[in-house]
Amino acid sequence: MSGWLVLDLVPVQPGVQTLVLDSHPSLLIHAIDCKIAGQQAPPLSLTYRVDPFTDYGSSLNISLPAAASTPGQLVHVTVRYTTTDGPAIWWLDSELTCGQSRPLLFTQGHSVCNRSFFPCFDTPAVKSTYTATVRVPDGVTVLMSASRSSFSKLDRVFQFSMEFPVPSYLVALVAGELQHVDVGPRSRVWAEPCLLSCAVKKLGGSVERWLGVAEQLFGAYLWGRCDIVFLPPSFPIVAMENPCLTFIIASILESSEFLLIDVVHEIAHGWFGNAVTNASWEEMWLSEGLATYAQRRITTEAYGEAFTCLETAVRLDALHRQLRLLGDNNPVSKLQVKFEPVVVVLQDYISEFKFQSVVAQDLIDYFLGYFPELKDAAVSQREGLEFERWLSGSGPPLFEPDLSAGVSLTGPVQDLCELWRAGAPPDPQTLSTFDLSAWSTFQIVLFLDRMLDLSPLPREVMSSLSSCYSSVFDGLNAEVQIRWLQMVVRNSFSPELPRVRAFLHKHTSRMYTVPLYDDLVAGVMKCVAVEIFSQTQHRLHPNLRRTLQQILFQTGSSAANQNGPALPVPSSANQNSPALPVPSSANQNSLALSVSSPANQNGPALSVPPSSPSAFTQPTATATASAAAGTTGTIALRDVNVSA
Ligand SMILES: [Zn+2]
Repeated sequence: MSGWLVLDLVPVQPGVQTLVLDSHPSLLIHAIDCKIAGQQAPPLSLTYRVDPFTDYGSSLNISLPAAASTPGQLVHVTVRYTTTDGPAIWWLDSELTCGQSRPLLFTQGHSVCNRSFFPCFDTPAVKSTYTATVRVPDGVTVLMSASRSSFSKLDRVFQFSMEFPVPSYLVALVAGELQHVDVGPRSRVWAEPCLLSCAVKKLGGSVERWLGVAEQLFGAYLWGRCDIVFLPPSFPIVAMENPCLTFIIASILESSEFLLIDVVHEIAHGWFGNAVTNASWEEMWLSEGLATYAQRRITTEAYGEAFTCLETAVRLDALHRQLRLLGDNNPVSKLQVKFEPVVVVLQDYISEFKFQSVVAQDLIDYFLGYFPELKDAAVSQREGLEFERWLSGSGPPLFEPDLSAGVSLTGPVQDLCELWRAGAPPDPQTLSTFDLSAWSTFQIVLFLDRMLDLSPLPREVMSSLSSCYSSVFDGLNAEVQIRWLQMVVRNSFSPELPRVRAFLHKHTSRMYTVPLYDDLVAGVMKCVAVEIFSQTQHRLHPNLRRTLQQILFQTGSSAANQNGPALPVPSSANQNSPALPVPSSANQNSLALSVSSPANQNGPALSVPPSSPSAFTQPTATATASAAAGTTGTIALRDVNVSA
């Protein structure tokens, strides 16, 4: 992508000399100039320097002229640049798409990737509105996470405007052969033509129903549009809550309730995460924790408590499995908070903080403001109210939810697991009382997850499982298939090996390939993995190809994450501070800029006019903290099961 970015900035302090933006080595900066609003003079060319910063980005230091440092003076800074192969930008050749007829492009900004899309204040603490003008070749449709859009057929130009402030990671773009069908008064489904009718059938009128339930619980949906775009299997995660336009992977179309849950979850982010955002990635639970809570409130209203408990049981199992992998003292297990505030508090929380970014203390203070009696020291020691333990303790969550309401659905799963775990194939008579073809996807998945945990299993148990349930395990449902095939690999169950091959030839998504390759390499089937990889690698996304090469050809479990976002580990200096990290004195003046004016509307540019007046005092602070964090080590995302 080639073009230019116009930042509209207003200094809030005198003496600002340098503008520091997050950038990336993959961005080729051609020129930077600035224009003082209201002056006739031509744009002034600026000098700049790109400094190394971390393994996930660099810092772009732009020298500002004296005239640009008057507090209150609007300044337009224009950066001309070209993107190359950066972590935010995923170019798919035709053969990587579902239709295989046209290339497709999508971006994935979460959490610190969009600095390779456009130079920006790449922190969730800073929000801005934006407009974008995108010109594409014939036959390509462009969508963005924007509240308004228009298209001029004559010059193939798409225009977008996001009228509500968003952090940089929520700016997203997808371009390809995309068509749509309206599925509700404010929602449409977008997909490649070959997927569209299936996608529409699966979601039907549900989106508006879920929005309606969510609005009853959490107040008005603030974003206007609630569209959904299905992406090819190369999409690196399951779904992403890009505002107005949820991105979701097409691979889960046949996975029944997984599709439902993921869309409901992304809808819940419309309130928690997108309207009110964690101000620092150290506190991502403010978005993910509350969105997951909201998602479960929505499914309880729409599908009943038993359904929600079943889904929670599946995820809770997965959490414990993840924690066993990470170890109890792993810092990423911190901030797993179980928080059960009443819904009215959450409604007011949204209206108080909407379009802002918050830290944990804001939420806790707000909650305690509602229930002042809980501030009492004696009460705060009570089980469930020890905020400090919640926030800084590591290991599994302190409290697990009561899932007894789901026992009608989870009970049969548990009973069947007991039957199989005895070590020998169960009595056929008893087995016939369990009809898996009538089970929901979550029930089958819960069963398989628990059997996977019991692996290795005796060979006759594997044979028996295979002959009893092959029709259930070998359908189109990828979430079911992946689990069964992991059991096949972990148990070296050779009769089903051809299915592993077929699956890896069909599914090229990170979430389905990486676990299977990991298992193949860990066991005795590394040569099978190498063979499958050599046959399929030309159809894999380059980033995934690199990850798999590392799994296959490097020893040990320390394969680095080539795919961009690493989670910074907070430095101990900042760990106890609920506020944003404090900038180092050296940088304190360099970014005292703020922003307020409408975007430059001229020409095919990507224009990002930030609009939050106090926002721009923050980015240097974040950069400084992250730089410090870099010295304490990072945790590769590949090692952490992250879903957005
Ligand atoms: Zn999420």
